[in-house]
Amino acid sequence: MMGPTHALSAAGVFLAVSFPISHYVHHLGPLPAAVGTIVAAGAGLLPDLDHPSASPARAFGPISQTAARIVCAVSGGHRHATHSLVGLAVFTAGAVAASFNVWALTVLIWLCMGLGVRALWRRPPNRPNGRLDYRDVAGLVHAAVAFFIAFRLTHAGIDLWVVPVAVGVGYFVHLAGDSMTESGVNWLWPDRRRFRIASIDTGKSVERWVVVPALYVGIAAVVYVTHGTWVPALLHTIKPE
Ligand SMILES: [Zn+2]
Repeated sequence: MMGPTHALSAAGVFLAVSFPISHYVHHLGPLPAAVGTIVAAGAGLLPDLDHPSASPARAFGPISQTAARIVCAVSGGHRHATHSLVGLAVFTAGAVAASFNVWALTVLIWLCMGLGVRALWRRPPNRPNGRLDYRDVAGLVHAAVAFFIAFRLTHAGIDLWVVPVAVGVGYFVHLAGDSMTESGVNWLWPDRRRFRIASIDTGKSVERWVVVPALYVGIAAVVYVTHGTWVPALLHTIKPE
């Protein structure tokens, strides 16, 4: 499954569940809802940080590549611990803990927002091993911009209680998505049995030209149906004075 599919499906599911959450659990304003959607998109990539040559590892150039090598070593390799209920619990608990400290929350939003936005760019071709090039520079610039935005968000007095919810939802949607592919997911890790609810292998071009546009349309439909009043409110909120 490609990065954009993971990111867009996570964002779409978060948007869909954020409406009843805002209605029945805790009010969610348009800006926190938008932040939550982007964070969920990035959290939908977090499990694949266990793969040092997959696209999430390239989001922030050498920074994310180092992080991915560490995650890969700690979690036992691609589709091991990170692709399980243990991984879901660890990352969600980490997000809850981070929400109590403004700097930890800044780093969390920075990472998720960076991964989510980066997933929607066209994936650059592989670079020769071990040599820095313009893609690393682009990753570092992207990291700096994402950090600036995350810093502004966490220091603007906005109630960002929804961020850990978005991390949990996005992460879960990734695992559910991988469960629909041939290789399945070892949900009960350290038990290595893999569970699969479907075996969809659409191929990259169908995914790029059918699935991804369908997800964009789906998200637009969810926004239109459930959050119609939020869009003008959000535009009004972020409009410069
Ligand atoms: Zn995965």
